[in-house]
Amino acid sequence: MARTAPLALLDLDSLLSEEEISIRDVVRRVVDAQVRPYVGHWFEDGRAPGRELAKQFGELGLLGMHLHGYGCAGASAVAYGLACMELEAGDSGVRSLVSVQGSLAMYAIATFGSEEHKQRWLPPMARGESIGCFGLTEPDHGSDPASMSTRAEQQGGEWLLRGTKTWITNAPIADVAVVWARAGDGIRGFVVPTDTDGVRINEIAHKLSLRASATGEIVLDDVRLPGDAALPEGIGLRAPLSCLTEARLGISWGALGAARECLEAAIAYACEREQFGRPIAGFQLTQAKLADMAVELQKGFLLALHLGRLADDGRLRPEQVSVAKLNNVREALAIARQCRTILGANGISLEYPVLRHANNLESVLTYEGTSEIHQLVIGQRLTGLSAFS
Ligand SMILES: Cc1cc2nc3c(=O)[nH]c(=O)nc-3n(C[C@H](O)[C@H](O)[C@H](O)COP(=O)(O)OP(=O)(O)OC[C@H]3O[C@@H](n4cnc5c(N)ncnc54)[C@H](O)[C@@H]3O)c2cc1C
Repeated sequence: MARTAPLALLDLDSLLSEEEISIRDVVRRVVDAQVRPYVGHWFEDGRAPGRELAKQFGELGLLGMHLHGYGCAGASAVAYGLACMELEAGDSGVRSLVSVQGSLAMYAIATFGSEEHKQRWLPPMARGESIGCFGLTEPDHGSDPASMSTRAEQQGGEWLLRGTKTWITNAPIADVAVVWARAGDGIRGFVVPTDTDGVRINEIAHKLSLRASATGEIVLDDVRLPGDAALPEGIGLRAPLSCLTEARLGISWGALGAARECLEAAIAYACEREQFGRPIAGFQLTQAKLADMAVELQKGFLLALHLGRLADDGRLRPEQVSVAKLNNVREALAIARQCRTILGANGISLEYPVLRHANNLESVLTYEGTSEIHQLVIGQRLTGLSAFS
């Protein structure tokens, strides 16, 4: 009998429009040409050509793809999700580059910025000529950003920023950082060109995960910014949290790409690899693993698609995104680890994508709200009681 691809089992393509399928296929071809042949080396070296990739992705309209105007493509949430899925099938670090640029840095400027901020930054960011990052996490404040220590003081007509942000994706290659700081009237976002005096960026080395992504610490040492550097709209934690909701939807799709890549690799391997005189794919225990993983992958896809359609209808709520981020990343990680067992010793080699994806998904499980934080969001909706503190 002919083999069926994991996501073809339920004819899920029949739920997509022709345009959505064609956008997905274009991104898949780009990942085939520009990412798959090289990503194992990038991961091994702990260095990816982020600026060159951004320019290529910018030419395709993938940066700020779901935003409108200022050179952004204005695509649907579902089309953006499918693009994230294909990018993360290549590598979670490559998808992170695009998510942070589009859903965090550009989205923050597009939603909360002034007309001058939008005109100055969005067109070059959409083209991939300027790279953005998003600084919320601090050394002492991760899951609880409301307690942040970074301060913004008004002095005359200027702002003075002091503090440290850490674990910031794209920071070592960024031209601009959207930095969140506590000001007199609440938490505010600031547009900080990274060449401003007093800004220092230290690359975080020795990562065992997301090695094909640049991550850094941003030290803000009495950084003086003009009075118009503050994002004028959206004062309070609600503003950065709404950016995270935006990015988490893309992550819910992206994680499925990593899982799909692992499952396809495991099926191909199991059909070729023979032990006890026959392909290991023919053993019932292997088939039970493959069947369970294919079921979870398709459930995750249906969940992401449902939320994508809600987003395109303007009806998506943050706790719904928590359901998808929690489920899809957790299941993707379980799939990647299970696929690793099917490849035996070869599963730990960079010759195959599975352990690279599993290692990457450890970061994806933690960033943009850990699993525990999403459980607390869902728990609060179910019970009406906050268990955060
Ligand atoms: C590769 C990578 C890239 C990142 N990129 C960015 C970025 O671009 N911008 C940015 O701002 N941040 C970024 N982050 C940071 C990320 O968002 C934080 O790591 C995350 O929010 C968790 O914070 P923490 O690491 O300080 O963990 P902590 O908050 O210290 O949590 C540690 C553990 O305690 C649990 N915990 C915390 N509070 C509770 C509670 N109330 N109840 C139960 N359990 C709890 C957590 O779930 C977790 O398991 C990145 C992180 C990584 C690893």
